Amino acid sequence: MSLTKKIIIALILGVAVGIGLSLAPTEVFSVTDNYLLNPVGQIFLNLITMLVVPIVFISIVLGTAGLGEPAKLGKIGLQTITFFLVTTSIALVIGIGLAYLLQPGQAGIFDTSNVKYESESAPPIMETIINIVPDNPFDSMASGNMLQIIAFAVFIGIAVAVLGEKTAGIYRLFEQANEIFMFLVNVIMKTAPYGAFALIASALGSAGLNALGSMAMYMATVILALVIHGIVTYSLAIWGLGKANPLKFYKGFFPAMSVGFSTSSSSATLPISMKTAQENLGVKKAISSFVQPLGATINMDGTAIMQAVATVFIAQVYTIPLEFTDIIMIILTATLASIGTAGVPGVGLIMLAMVLNQIGLPVEGIALIIGVDRLLDMLRTSLNITGDATCAYIISEKEKHNQKNTQLSS
Ligand code: ASP
Repeated sequence: MSLTKKIIIALILGVAVGIGLSLAPTEVFSVTDNYLLNPVGQIFLNLITMLVVPIVFISIVLGTAGLGEPAKLGKIGLQTITFFLVTTSIALVIGIGLAYLLQPGQAGIFDTSNVKYESESAPPIMETIINIVPDNPFDSMASGNMLQIIAFAVFIGIAVAVLGEKTAGIYRLFEQANEIFMFLVNVIMKTAPYGAFALIASALGSAGLNALGSMAMYMATVILALVIHGIVTYSLAIWGLGKANPLKFYKGFFPAMSVGFSTSSSSATLPISMKTAQENLGVKKAISSFVQPLGATINMDGTAIMQAVATVFIAQVYTIPLEFTDIIMIILTATLASIGTAGVPGVGLIMLAMVLNQIGLPVEGIALIIGVDRLLDMLRTSLNITGDATCAYIISEKEKHNQKNTQLSS
């Protein structure tokens, strides 16, 4: 049986067992979770997370060095960031539009008298920018600070490219290290169906599905926006900009989407999303290694959608009218908040406090949605990594077309 088929079965079984467990007595859930689901899921998660830092570092050094000249890196960087910003804005507009249309937070349904939420303060934006350049790269690796690792790897990659022959040995060493890690991803990927099953069943089992009730409309709004963005926006981009077939893209990238869904972490899924993009979609290694790690860190369209819908939802619940300038403010701050969201479970919700504060909405509103966020996190993470892969795929396809054209004309 192919891996994709196995993963599909694991997803279905995981959802079914998870729903069953959420309805079963708590003791049944806790015993199954403690002794089976949680250990299996966590071991799988640790296995892939173990590879993230070395893979990001090694593949970005190779990718940057492989591009040859820094100018080319600049061009790809600019295209990548532009794509990320434009798609995130589109995601926000879809989220806000649907929240207005479907009115998930209609007044009168929610009791806000007892809700409490302690928000954490977000780091100031200037500090985040300064900190992209690490003062101690080993520290960055030990703590898994993705942007710093990316920056350091780009510097080393440029040096290797410029020094050429002088550093041919190191280049070869990195190539061999890359082989080792890609081999390991392949091996670990074979366990993905078991890991995904355990993680999904555990997450759904603990989510308390019977508590959804009044939140159903909020969830439906977020899910609909995620689906529209995932299918319409990305397909149009792949077809229009990359001149490629969206169906081929979704089919090829599906295994990574399902791992993103089960782990709720763009960062942990990175080794698998890179391998899947390179092997199933034929994305050039140099492009995938640069675009996807960057995307897993700063490009989160799914998170942006949740933040947009949640903001409008909270305004509706507290019957606070939003002006047009507020909407623009939501788009600006939610873009920043999604960029600042780390690719690990649940951070999108923490960063939502920043958006609410900016608009002057009650941060306590987060307490209303916290209970259903775990489920939505799974879906939005899947979309987050799909957005990164879409960008890598388009840039890679464009490069291939350009190369073909230059070959034809010469
Ligand atoms: N879990 C998301 C991710 O890793 C981030 C979030 O929205 O909480 O992409």
